[in-house]
Amino acid sequence: MQRPEDQRIKNNARARRRREELKVLNLCGSCGKAPRTSKYSCDACRVRSRESQKRSIGRAKAQVFEAYGNKCNCCGEVNLKFLTVDHVLNDCYLDRYTRGSAWYRRVLKLGCPKDRYQLLCFNCNCGRYHNGGVCPHVG
Ligand SMILES: [Zn+2]
Ligand SMILES: [Zn+2]
Ligand SMILES: [Zn+2]
Repeated sequence: MQRPEDQRIKNNARARRRREELKVLNLCGSCGKAPRTSKYSCDACRVRSRESQKRSIGRAKAQVFEAYGNKCNCCGEVNLKFLTVDHVLNDCYLDRYTRGSAWYRRVLKLGCPKDRYQLLCFNCNCGRYHNGGVCPHVG
């Protein structure tokens, strides 16, 4: 009976060995077929991983936007292209280590707290920033 942990370590070791072999052969570390054009992968795999990353940002982002009502919390703007997540407490510094999809996934994990984040359009977001923390719409 093998513990999942042992299995994982074994798989990791195997994957590492495989990557080493591919490196020697100068083949892509992901598909193992095409010659590598960057440090780890071939052009096709690089494009593919960039796209899958973009897709996963899109999914997490959509879930976060949904949780916050898909509209600007101040003026009610519903065009998603204008919307951004605003840090209610201006605690951006807490998030500086996570970016992109990891950041959105973290907000999801936190349960999308309404007292920490809100959706604002760029207008209200900027307005708030330039007006001492309150959107000029409000006062
Ligand atoms: Zn490849
Ligand atoms: Zn707005
Ligand atoms: Zn506003």
